[in-house]
Amino acid sequence: MSDSTERDLQQLPFLSAAHISTLVTSGEVSAREVATTMLQRIKDLDGDIHAFNEVTPELALAAADALDKRIADGATADELGQLAGVPVAFKDNMNQLGTHMTCSSRMLANFQSPYDATAVRRLLDANTIPLGKLNMDDLACGSSTESSATGPTYNPWNRKHVPGGSSGGSAAAVAAGMATITLGSDTGGSIRQPAAFTGTVGLKPSYGRVSRYGCAALASSLDQIGPLSHSVRDSALALSAIAGIDPLDASSLDVSVPDFAVACDHALQGTAKGMRVAIVSDVLQQDGLDPRLKAEVLTAAELLAQQGADIIEVTLPSAQYGPPAYYILGSAEASSNLARLDGVRYGHRAEDATDILDLYLRSRKEGFSPETIRRIMFGTHVLSSGNYDDYYLQAQKVRTLIKGDYAAAFKQADVLLTPSTPTLAFKFGEFADDPLAMYLSDYYTSLVNIAGIAALSLPTRLIDGLPASVQLIADHACETNLLRAATLLESSLNFDYRSVPLTKAAAVADA
Ligand code: GLN
Repeated sequence: MSDSTERDLQQLPFLSAAHISTLVTSGEVSAREVATTMLQRIKDLDGDIHAFNEVTPELALAAADALDKRIADGATADELGQLAGVPVAFKDNMNQLGTHMTCSSRMLANFQSPYDATAVRRLLDANTIPLGKLNMDDLACGSSTESSATGPTYNPWNRKHVPGGSSGGSAAAVAAGMATITLGSDTGGSIRQPAAFTGTVGLKPSYGRVSRYGCAALASSLDQIGPLSHSVRDSALALSAIAGIDPLDASSLDVSVPDFAVACDHALQGTAKGMRVAIVSDVLQQDGLDPRLKAEVLTAAELLAQQGADIIEVTLPSAQYGPPAYYILGSAEASSNLARLDGVRYGHRAEDATDILDLYLRSRKEGFSPETIRRIMFGTHVLSSGNYDDYYLQAQKVRTLIKGDYAAAFKQADVLLTPSTPTLAFKFGEFADDPLAMYLSDYYTSLVNIAGIAALSLPTRLIDGLPASVQLIADHACETNLLRAATLLESSLNFDYRSVPLTKAAAVADA
Protein backbone atom coordinates (compact mmCIF):
# COMPACT_ATOMS: atom_id res chain seq x y z
CA MET A 1 0.00 0.00 0.00
CA SER A 2 1.44 3.42 -0.92
CA ASP A 3 1.90 6.10 1.74
CA SER A 4 -0.84 8.22 0.25
CA THR A 5 -3.27 5.29 0.19
CA GLU A 6 -2.53 4.59 3.83
CA ARG A 7 -3.11 8.25 4.67
CA ASP A 8 -6.41 8.26 2.77
CA LEU A 9 -7.59 5.21 4.67
CA GLN A 10 -6.66 6.76 8.00
CA GLN A 11 -8.68 9.85 7.14
CA LEU A 12 -11.50 7.85 5.60
CA PRO A 13 -13.95 8.17 8.53
CA PHE A 14 -14.15 11.92 8.04
CA LEU A 15 -13.74 12.27 4.27
CA SER A 16 -16.62 13.59 2.19
CA ALA A 17 -18.68 11.21 0.08
CA ALA A 18 -17.37 12.79 -3.12
CA HIS A 19 -13.77 12.37 -1.95
CA ILE A 20 -14.31 8.70 -1.08
CA SER A 21 -16.04 7.94 -4.37
CA THR A 22 -13.20 9.64 -6.29
CA LEU A 23 -10.61 7.54 -4.44
CA VAL A 24 -12.55 4.36 -5.13
CA THR A 25 -13.61 4.94 -8.73
CA SER A 26 -10.10 6.09 -9.69
CA GLY A 27 -8.73 2.85 -8.29
CA GLU A 28 -6.53 4.61 -5.72
CA VAL A 29 -8.29 2.79 -2.90
CA SER A 30 -10.40 -0.32 -3.39
CA ALA A 31 -13.97 -0.53 -2.14
CA ARG A 32 -12.87 -3.59 -0.17
CA GLU A 33 -10.24 -1.48 1.63
CA VAL A 34 -12.92 1.06 2.46
CA ALA A 35 -15.19 -1.67 3.82
CA THR A 36 -12.54 -3.37 5.93
CA THR A 37 -11.24 -0.06 7.32
CA MET A 38 -14.73 0.98 8.41
CA LEU A 39 -15.60 -2.46 9.82
CA GLN A 40 -12.40 -2.37 11.88
CA ARG A 41 -13.23 1.12 13.13
CA ILE A 42 -16.67 -0.03 14.23
CA LYS A 43 -15.02 -2.94 16.06
CA ASP A 44 -12.64 -0.53 17.79
CA LEU A 45 -15.13 2.16 18.76
CA ASP A 46 -18.64 0.86 18.90
CA GLY A 47 -18.21 -0.98 22.19
CA ASP A 48 -18.16 2.47 23.79
CA ILE A 49 -20.78 4.13 21.59
CA HIS A 50 -23.29 1.38 20.74
CA ALA A 51 -24.54 3.06 17.58
CA PHE A 52 -25.06 -0.31 15.85
CA ASN A 53 -27.63 -2.97 16.64
CA GLU A 54 -26.21 -5.20 13.92
CA VAL A 55 -23.02 -4.94 11.88
CA THR A 56 -23.16 -6.61 8.45
CA PRO A 57 -19.63 -7.48 7.26
CA GLU A 58 -20.91 -9.98 4.67
CA LEU A 59 -23.20 -7.42 3.04
CA ALA A 60 -20.50 -4.74 3.21
CA LEU A 61 -17.84 -6.93 1.62
CA ALA A 62 -20.21 -8.30 -1.03
CA ALA A 63 -21.20 -4.77 -2.07
CA ALA A 64 -17.55 -3.67 -2.03
CA ASP A 65 -16.42 -6.63 -4.15
CA ALA A 66 -19.23 -6.11 -6.64
CA LEU A 67 -18.19 -2.47 -6.98
CA ASP A 68 -14.49 -3.33 -7.35
CA LYS A 69 -15.42 -5.78 -10.09
CA ARG A 70 -17.39 -3.15 -11.98
CA ILE A 71 -14.43 -0.78 -11.72
CA ALA A 72 -12.07 -3.50 -12.95
CA ASP A 73 -14.49 -4.10 -15.83
CA GLY A 74 -14.16 -0.47 -16.86
CA ALA A 75 -17.17 1.28 -15.32
CA THR A 76 -16.52 5.02 -15.19
CA ALA A 77 -16.86 7.37 -12.23
CA ASP A 78 -19.83 9.03 -13.97
CA GLU A 79 -21.61 5.70 -14.33
CA LEU A 80 -20.94 4.71 -10.74
CA GLY A 81 -21.91 8.04 -9.20
CA GLN A 82 -20.69 10.13 -6.29
CA LEU A 83 -21.90 7.67 -3.69
CA ALA A 84 -19.86 4.77 -5.08
CA GLY A 85 -17.88 3.14 -2.30
CA VAL A 86 -19.38 5.40 0.39
CA PRO A 87 -19.97 3.67 3.76
CA VAL A 88 -23.61 3.92 4.87
CA ALA A 89 -25.85 2.44 7.55
CA PHE A 90 -29.58 2.39 8.22
CA LYS A 91 -31.79 3.06 11.21
CA ASP A 92 -33.13 -0.22 12.50
CA ASN A 93 -36.72 0.59 11.57
CA MET A 94 -35.94 0.12 7.87
CA ASN A 95 -36.12 -3.22 6.13
CA GLN A 96 -32.94 -4.38 4.46
CA LEU A 97 -32.71 -7.90 3.07
CA GLY A 98 -30.21 -9.99 4.99
CA THR A 99 -30.72 -8.03 8.23
CA HIS A 100 -33.11 -7.95 11.12
CA MET A 101 -35.44 -5.01 11.54
CA THR A 102 -35.88 -4.81 15.29
CA CYS A 103 -36.87 -1.15 15.81
CA SER A 104 -34.71 -1.62 18.96
CA SER A 105 -37.78 -3.27 20.49
CA ARG A 106 -38.22 -6.59 22.26
CA MET A 107 -41.42 -6.72 20.22
CA LEU A 108 -39.51 -7.23 16.94
CA ALA A 109 -36.26 -8.70 18.27
CA ASN A 110 -36.37 -11.61 15.81
CA PHE A 111 -37.99 -9.91 12.84
CA GLN A 112 -36.11 -10.62 9.59
CA SER A 113 -36.48 -8.03 6.84
CA PRO A 114 -38.55 -9.67 4.08
CA TYR A 115 -37.52 -7.07 1.49
CA ASP A 116 -35.61 -3.79 1.09
CA ALA A 117 -37.24 -0.49 2.03
CA THR A 118 -37.32 1.76 -1.05
CA ALA A 119 -34.93 4.34 0.46
CA VAL A 120 -32.53 1.56 1.48
CA ARG A 121 -32.73 -0.02 -2.00
CA ARG A 122 -32.06 3.30 -3.70
CA LEU A 123 -29.01 4.02 -1.57
CA LEU A 124 -27.69 0.49 -2.22
CA ASP A 125 -28.32 0.96 -5.95
CA ALA A 126 -26.05 4.02 -5.75
CA ASN A 127 -23.14 1.59 -5.10
CA THR A 128 -22.76 2.39 -1.40
CA ILE A 129 -21.29 -0.01 1.17
CA PRO A 130 -23.87 -1.00 3.82
CA LEU A 131 -22.27 -1.44 7.26
CA GLY A 132 -25.28 -2.31 9.41
CA LYS A 133 -28.41 -1.34 11.31
CA LEU A 134 -28.49 1.48 13.81
CA ASN A 135 -29.84 1.82 17.33
CA MET A 136 -32.89 3.93 18.12
CA ASP A 137 -35.53 4.44 20.76
CA ASP A 138 -38.01 1.57 21.08
CA LEU A 139 -40.21 1.81 17.95
CA ALA A 140 -39.01 5.41 17.42
CA CYS A 141 -40.80 6.72 20.52
CA GLY A 142 -38.32 8.87 22.39
CA SER A 143 -35.64 11.55 22.21
CA SER A 144 -32.59 9.93 23.78
CA THR A 145 -32.24 6.21 22.77
CA GLU A 146 -32.74 5.42 26.46
CA SER A 147 -35.80 3.34 25.59
CA SER A 148 -33.90 1.01 23.22
CA ALA A 149 -34.22 -2.65 24.18
CA THR A 150 -30.58 -3.13 23.18
CA GLY A 151 -29.33 -0.42 25.56
CA PRO A 152 -28.64 3.26 24.91
CA THR A 153 -26.31 4.84 22.38
CA TYR A 154 -23.70 7.17 23.89
CA ASN A 155 -22.91 10.63 22.57
CA PRO A 156 -19.43 10.47 20.97
CA TRP A 157 -18.69 14.01 22.22
CA ASN A 158 -19.30 13.06 25.83
CA ARG A 159 -20.53 9.68 26.98
CA LYS A 160 -22.43 11.12 29.94
CA HIS A 161 -24.80 12.75 27.47
CA VAL A 162 -27.46 11.23 25.25
CA PRO A 163 -27.03 11.36 21.46
CA GLY A 164 -30.68 12.36 21.08
CA GLY A 165 -33.36 10.20 19.54
CA SER A 166 -35.01 8.43 18.21
CA SER A 167 -32.34 8.15 15.45
CA GLY A 168 -29.54 8.35 18.06
CA GLY A 169 -27.56 5.51 16.48
CA SER A 170 -27.76 7.13 13.03
CA ALA A 171 -26.35 10.36 14.47
CA ALA A 172 -23.68 8.83 16.70
CA ALA A 173 -22.39 6.56 13.91
CA VAL A 174 -21.72 9.59 11.70
CA ALA A 175 -20.36 11.73 14.55
CA ALA A 176 -17.84 9.03 15.51
CA GLY A 177 -16.82 8.46 11.90
CA MET A 178 -18.26 4.94 11.79
CA ALA A 179 -20.32 5.74 8.66
CA THR A 180 -20.23 8.59 6.14
CA ILE A 181 -23.98 8.80 5.58
CA THR A 182 -26.78 7.18 7.56
CA LEU A 183 -30.52 7.16 7.14
CA GLY A 184 -32.84 8.11 9.97
CA SER A 185 -36.55 8.74 10.23
CA ASP A 186 -38.20 11.87 11.59
CA THR A 187 -41.75 11.99 12.92
CA GLY A 188 -41.35 14.86 15.36
CA GLY A 189 -37.63 15.56 15.18
CA SER A 190 -35.92 12.20 15.24
CA ILE A 191 -33.37 13.10 12.56
CA ARG A 192 -32.76 16.74 13.50
CA GLN A 193 -32.66 16.52 17.29
CA PRO A 194 -30.00 13.76 17.34
CA ALA A 195 -28.11 15.61 14.60
CA ALA A 196 -28.17 18.71 16.82
CA PHE A 197 -26.90 16.76 19.83
CA THR A 198 -24.03 15.12 17.94
CA GLY A 199 -22.69 17.85 15.66
CA THR A 200 -23.97 16.26 12.48
CA VAL A 201 -26.13 17.53 9.63
CA GLY A 202 -29.63 16.04 9.75
CA LEU A 203 -32.13 16.62 6.96
CA LYS A 204 -35.86 15.99 7.22
CA PRO A 205 -37.21 16.23 3.69
CA SER A 206 -40.73 17.45 2.87
CA TYR A 207 -43.50 14.98 3.61
CA GLY A 208 -43.69 12.61 0.64
CA ARG A 209 -40.29 13.55 -0.82
CA VAL A 210 -38.86 10.16 0.15
CA SER A 211 -40.85 6.92 -0.01
CA ARG A 212 -41.64 5.44 3.39
CA TYR A 213 -42.23 1.97 1.96
CA GLY A 214 -40.45 -0.56 4.14
CA CYS A 215 -39.94 1.78 7.10
CA ALA A 216 -41.91 0.74 10.19
CA ALA A 217 -44.74 3.25 10.51
CA LEU A 218 -44.98 5.35 13.67
CA ALA A 219 -47.29 8.23 12.73
CA SER A 220 -48.05 8.00 9.04
CA SER A 221 -49.04 11.62 8.44
CA LEU A 222 -45.76 12.83 9.99
CA ASP A 223 -43.08 10.19 9.24
CA GLN A 224 -40.32 10.95 6.77
CA ILE A 225 -36.95 9.31 6.01
CA GLY A 226 -33.86 11.44 5.57
CA PRO A 227 -30.04 11.45 5.72
CA LEU A 228 -27.50 12.36 8.41
CA SER A 229 -23.91 13.22 7.48
CA HIS A 230 -20.95 15.43 8.28
CA SER A 231 -21.73 17.97 5.58
CA VAL A 232 -24.70 19.54 3.85
CA ARG A 233 -23.46 18.34 0.48
CA ASP A 234 -23.31 14.71 1.58
CA SER A 235 -26.90 14.91 2.79
CA ALA A 236 -27.83 16.54 -0.51
CA LEU A 237 -26.22 13.68 -2.46
CA ALA A 238 -28.07 11.12 -0.37
CA LEU A 239 -31.37 12.96 -0.78
CA SER A 240 -31.07 12.96 -4.57
CA ALA A 241 -30.46 9.20 -4.43
CA ILE A 242 -33.40 8.31 -2.19
CA ALA A 243 -36.05 10.88 -3.23
CA GLY A 244 -38.75 10.52 -5.84
CA ILE A 245 -42.10 8.93 -6.46
CA ASP A 246 -42.55 5.29 -5.53
CA PRO A 247 -45.57 3.26 -6.65
CA LEU A 248 -45.30 1.39 -3.35
CA ASP A 249 -45.97 4.53 -1.25
CA ALA A 250 -49.14 6.39 -2.19
CA SER A 251 -47.96 9.45 -0.23
CA SER A 252 -44.73 9.79 -2.20
CA LEU A 253 -44.54 13.01 -4.18
CA ASP A 254 -44.71 13.07 -7.94
CA VAL A 255 -42.38 16.04 -8.38
CA SER A 256 -39.03 16.14 -10.11
CA VAL A 257 -35.93 15.44 -8.05
CA PRO A 258 -33.24 18.02 -8.74
CA ASP A 259 -29.56 17.23 -8.37
CA PHE A 260 -29.37 18.65 -4.86
CA ALA A 261 -25.56 18.42 -4.64
CA VAL A 262 -25.28 20.63 -7.73
CA ALA A 263 -27.51 23.13 -5.93
CA CYS A 264 -24.97 23.15 -3.09
CA ASP A 265 -22.10 23.64 -5.53
CA HIS A 266 -23.91 26.54 -7.23
CA ALA A 267 -24.54 28.12 -3.85
CA LEU A 268 -20.82 28.17 -3.11
CA GLN A 269 -20.07 29.80 -6.46
CA GLY A 270 -22.36 32.70 -5.61
CA THR A 271 -23.46 34.68 -2.58
CA ALA A 272 -26.66 34.86 -0.54
CA LYS A 273 -27.81 37.92 -2.53
CA GLY A 274 -31.54 37.81 -3.07
CA MET A 275 -32.07 35.15 -0.41
CA ARG A 276 -34.76 36.13 2.09
CA VAL A 277 -33.99 34.65 5.50
CA ALA A 278 -36.38 35.08 8.42
CA ILE A 279 -35.72 34.87 12.11
CA VAL A 280 -38.85 33.53 13.81
CA SER A 281 -38.93 36.09 16.59
CA ASP A 282 -41.71 34.72 18.81
CA VAL A 283 -40.34 31.17 19.10
CA LEU A 284 -37.04 32.68 20.24
CA GLN A 285 -38.86 33.97 23.33
CA GLN A 286 -39.96 30.45 24.28
CA ASP A 287 -39.40 29.48 27.94
CA GLY A 288 -36.72 26.86 28.36
CA LEU A 289 -34.59 27.94 25.39
CA ASP A 290 -30.92 28.01 26.37
CA PRO A 291 -29.86 31.65 25.74
CA ARG A 292 -26.64 30.38 24.17
CA LEU A 293 -28.69 28.55 21.51
CA LYS A 294 -30.78 31.65 20.93
CA ALA A 295 -27.52 33.51 20.32
CA GLU A 296 -26.50 30.88 17.75
CA VAL A 297 -29.61 31.69 15.71
CA LEU A 298 -28.83 35.41 15.75
CA THR A 299 -25.22 34.75 14.82
CA ALA A 300 -26.31 32.50 11.95
CA ALA A 301 -28.55 35.28 10.63
CA GLU A 302 -25.66 37.71 10.88
CA LEU A 303 -23.37 35.37 8.94
CA LEU A 304 -25.93 34.99 6.16
CA ALA A 305 -26.43 38.76 6.13
CA GLN A 306 -22.68 39.19 5.64
CA GLN A 307 -23.01 36.98 2.56
CA GLY A 308 -25.73 39.23 1.17
CA ALA A 309 -28.97 37.69 2.47
CA ASP A 310 -31.88 39.93 3.46
CA ILE A 311 -32.78 39.22 7.07
CA ILE A 312 -36.33 39.82 8.23
CA GLU A 313 -38.46 38.76 11.19
CA VAL A 314 -41.61 36.67 11.04
CA THR A 315 -43.82 35.10 13.71
CA LEU A 316 -45.56 31.75 14.07
CA PRO A 317 -48.40 32.71 16.42
CA SER A 318 -49.77 29.16 16.75
CA ALA A 319 -46.37 27.60 17.51
CA GLN A 320 -47.14 27.47 21.22
CA TYR A 321 -49.83 24.85 20.50
CA GLY A 322 -47.48 22.76 18.38
CA PRO A 323 -46.00 20.37 20.94
CA PRO A 324 -49.36 19.35 22.46
CA ALA A 325 -50.81 18.96 18.95
CA TYR A 326 -47.83 16.85 17.91
CA TYR A 327 -48.12 14.52 20.89
CA ILE A 328 -51.88 14.12 20.35
CA LEU A 329 -51.66 13.47 16.60
CA GLY A 330 -48.45 11.44 16.85
CA SER A 331 -49.71 9.25 19.67
CA ALA A 332 -53.11 8.76 18.05
CA GLU A 333 -51.51 7.53 14.83
CA ALA A 334 -48.90 5.48 16.72
CA SER A 335 -51.59 3.71 18.74
CA SER A 336 -53.26 2.72 15.50
CA ASN A 337 -50.06 1.70 13.65
CA LEU A 338 -48.67 -0.28 16.57
CA ALA A 339 -51.91 -2.26 16.97
CA ARG A 340 -50.56 -4.76 14.44
CA LEU A 341 -47.86 -5.78 16.94
CA ASP A 342 -50.18 -8.07 18.83
CA GLY A 343 -48.15 -11.25 19.27
CA VAL A 344 -50.34 -13.05 16.74
CA ARG A 345 -49.57 -11.66 13.30
CA TYR A 346 -46.39 -9.88 14.30
CA GLY A 347 -44.17 -9.47 17.27
CA HIS A 348 -43.15 -10.98 20.53
CA ARG A 349 -45.58 -13.62 21.82
CA ALA A 350 -45.99 -14.20 25.57
CA GLU A 351 -45.70 -17.79 26.67
CA ASP A 352 -48.46 -19.90 28.23
CA ALA A 353 -51.28 -17.45 27.60
CA THR A 354 -54.58 -18.58 29.10
CA ASP A 355 -56.74 -17.01 26.40
CA ILE A 356 -56.50 -14.54 23.53
CA LEU A 357 -56.95 -11.45 25.72
CA ASP A 358 -54.25 -12.65 28.08
CA LEU A 359 -52.01 -13.22 25.03
CA TYR A 360 -52.56 -9.68 23.73
CA LEU A 361 -52.11 -8.04 27.09
CA ARG A 362 -48.99 -9.88 28.15
CA SER A 363 -47.31 -9.87 24.73
CA ARG A 364 -47.71 -6.13 24.46
CA LYS A 365 -46.70 -5.43 28.04
CA GLU A 366 -43.56 -7.54 27.66
CA GLY A 367 -42.74 -6.34 24.14
CA PHE A 368 -43.06 -2.55 24.34
CA SER A 369 -40.96 -0.08 26.36
CA PRO A 370 -42.80 1.94 29.04
CA GLU A 371 -42.56 5.00 26.79
CA THR A 372 -44.19 3.20 23.86
CA ILE A 373 -46.95 1.92 26.15
CA ARG A 374 -47.51 5.50 27.35
CA ARG A 375 -47.93 6.64 23.72
CA ILE A 376 -50.35 3.83 22.92
CA MET A 377 -52.48 4.55 25.99
CA PHE A 378 -52.46 8.27 25.34
CA GLY A 379 -53.24 7.80 21.65
CA THR A 380 -56.10 5.43 22.39
CA HIS A 381 -57.45 7.88 24.95
CA VAL A 382 -57.50 10.87 22.59
CA LEU A 383 -59.23 8.82 19.88
CA SER A 384 -61.88 7.30 22.12
CA SER A 385 -65.46 8.49 21.79
CA GLY A 386 -66.10 11.29 24.23
CA ASN A 387 -62.48 12.48 24.01
CA TYR A 388 -62.05 12.64 20.24
CA ASP A 389 -63.62 16.08 19.84
CA ASP A 390 -61.71 17.54 22.77
CA TYR A 391 -58.28 16.32 21.73
CA TYR A 392 -57.85 14.82 18.28
CA LEU A 393 -60.16 17.22 16.49
CA GLN A 394 -58.67 20.22 18.29
CA ALA A 395 -55.18 19.07 17.38
CA GLN A 396 -56.20 18.78 13.72
CA LYS A 397 -57.44 22.37 13.89
CA VAL A 398 -54.11 23.44 15.38
CA ARG A 399 -52.44 21.67 12.49
CA THR A 400 -54.38 23.85 10.05
CA LEU A 401 -53.41 26.98 11.99
CA ILE A 402 -49.72 26.05 12.03
CA LYS A 403 -49.75 25.35 8.30
CA GLY A 404 -51.33 28.77 7.83
CA ASP A 405 -48.61 30.42 9.92
CA TYR A 406 -45.90 28.85 7.81
CA ALA A 407 -47.68 29.73 4.55
CA ALA A 408 -47.76 33.37 5.66
CA ALA A 409 -44.08 33.24 6.65
CA PHE A 410 -43.05 31.77 3.31
CA LYS A 411 -44.74 34.63 1.46
CA GLN A 412 -42.05 36.83 2.96
CA ALA A 413 -39.07 34.50 3.29
CA ASP A 414 -37.35 31.65 1.46
CA VAL A 415 -35.81 30.12 4.58
CA LEU A 416 -36.63 30.39 8.28
CA LEU A 417 -34.05 30.18 11.05
CA THR A 418 -34.88 28.74 14.48
CA PRO A 419 -33.09 26.71 17.12
CA SER A 420 -33.08 22.94 16.44
CA THR A 421 -33.50 22.15 20.11
CA PRO A 422 -34.10 24.19 23.28
CA THR A 423 -30.98 22.76 24.99
CA LEU A 424 -27.66 21.11 24.31
CA ALA A 425 -27.50 17.30 24.62
CA PHE A 426 -28.88 16.41 28.03
CA LYS A 427 -27.51 13.79 30.42
CA PHE A 428 -28.67 10.20 30.73
CA GLY A 429 -31.50 9.90 33.21
CA GLU A 430 -32.15 13.63 33.31
CA PHE A 431 -35.83 13.20 32.42
CA ALA A 432 -36.39 9.78 33.96
CA ASP A 433 -39.07 11.12 36.32
CA ASP A 434 -40.60 13.64 33.96
CA PRO A 435 -41.28 12.29 30.45
CA LEU A 436 -43.30 15.38 29.62
CA ALA A 437 -40.22 17.56 30.05
CA MET A 438 -38.36 15.41 27.53
CA TYR A 439 -41.19 15.96 25.03
CA LEU A 440 -40.24 19.64 24.97
CA SER A 441 -36.93 18.80 23.34
CA ASP A 442 -39.05 18.41 20.16
CA TYR A 443 -40.49 21.90 20.48
CA TYR A 444 -38.76 23.35 17.42
CA THR A 445 -38.68 20.25 15.29
CA SER A 446 -42.20 18.80 15.62
CA LEU A 447 -43.77 22.02 14.32
CA VAL A 448 -42.13 21.28 10.99
CA ASN A 449 -43.55 17.74 10.79
CA ILE A 450 -47.02 19.05 11.56
CA ALA A 451 -46.76 21.28 8.48
CA GLY A 452 -45.09 18.60 6.31
CA ILE A 453 -42.33 20.98 5.22
CA ALA A 454 -38.54 20.52 4.95
CA ALA A 455 -35.88 21.35 7.56
CA LEU A 456 -32.25 20.74 8.38
CA SER A 457 -30.22 20.90 11.58
CA LEU A 458 -26.75 22.37 11.06
CA PRO A 459 -23.98 22.23 13.68
CA THR A 460 -22.54 25.64 14.52
CA ARG A 461 -19.82 25.27 17.19
CA LEU A 462 -18.99 23.57 20.46
CA ILE A 463 -20.33 24.93 23.74
CA ASP A 464 -18.88 23.28 26.85
CA GLY A 465 -17.58 20.49 24.62
CA LEU A 466 -21.02 19.73 23.20
CA PRO A 467 -22.25 20.62 19.70
CA ALA A 468 -24.62 23.56 19.25
CA SER A 469 -26.80 23.95 16.16
CA VAL A 470 -29.45 25.90 14.31
CA GLN A 471 -32.42 24.73 12.27
CA LEU A 472 -33.17 25.99 8.76
CA ILE A 473 -36.69 25.47 7.42
CA ALA A 474 -38.01 25.73 3.85
CA ASP A 475 -41.45 25.37 2.32
CA HIS A 476 -42.84 22.11 1.02
CA ALA A 477 -40.72 20.65 -1.84
CA CYS A 478 -38.32 23.62 -1.60
CA GLU A 479 -35.29 21.62 -0.47
CA THR A 480 -33.14 23.50 -2.97
CA ASN A 481 -33.67 26.74 -1.00
CA LEU A 482 -32.92 24.89 2.21
CA LEU A 483 -29.69 23.35 0.93
CA ARG A 484 -28.51 26.58 -0.67
CA ALA A 485 -28.86 28.51 2.59
CA ALA A 486 -27.41 25.67 4.65
CA THR A 487 -24.38 25.37 2.35
CA LEU A 488 -23.60 29.07 2.62
CA LEU A 489 -24.02 29.10 6.37
CA GLU A 490 -21.92 25.96 6.74
CA SER A 491 -19.11 27.60 4.78
CA SER A 492 -19.05 30.52 7.25
CA LEU A 493 -19.22 28.32 10.32
CA ASN A 494 -16.59 25.68 9.55
CA PHE A 495 -17.74 23.38 12.34
CA ASP A 496 -14.85 21.08 13.27
CA TYR A 497 -16.52 17.66 13.30
CA ARG A 498 -13.10 15.99 13.20
CA SER A 499 -12.36 17.13 16.75
CA VAL A 500 -14.76 14.55 18.22
CA PRO A 501 -12.95 12.58 20.94
CA LEU A 502 -12.24 9.49 18.91
CA THR A 503 -10.12 7.01 20.65
CA LYS A 504 -11.44 4.40 22.99
CA ALA A 505 -9.39 5.94 25.76
CA ALA A 506 -10.89 9.39 25.22
CA ALA A 507 -14.42 8.04 25.15
CA VAL A 508 -13.92 6.10 28.35
CA ALA A 509 -12.18 9.00 30.08
CA ASP A 510 -15.28 11.12 29.48
CA ALA A 511 -17.59 8.63 31.09
N1 GLN B 1 -38.91 12.54 20.02
C1 GLN B 1 -40.15 12.49 19.29
C2 GLN B 1 -41.09 11.50 19.89
O1 GLN B 1 -40.71 10.83 20.81
C3 GLN B 1 -39.89 12.22 17.86
C4 GLN B 1 -39.97 10.80 17.51
C5 GLN B 1 -39.67 10.60 16.07
O2 GLN B 1 -39.48 11.55 15.33
N2 GLN B 1 -39.66 9.35 15.67
O3 GLN B 1 -42.22 11.44 19.47
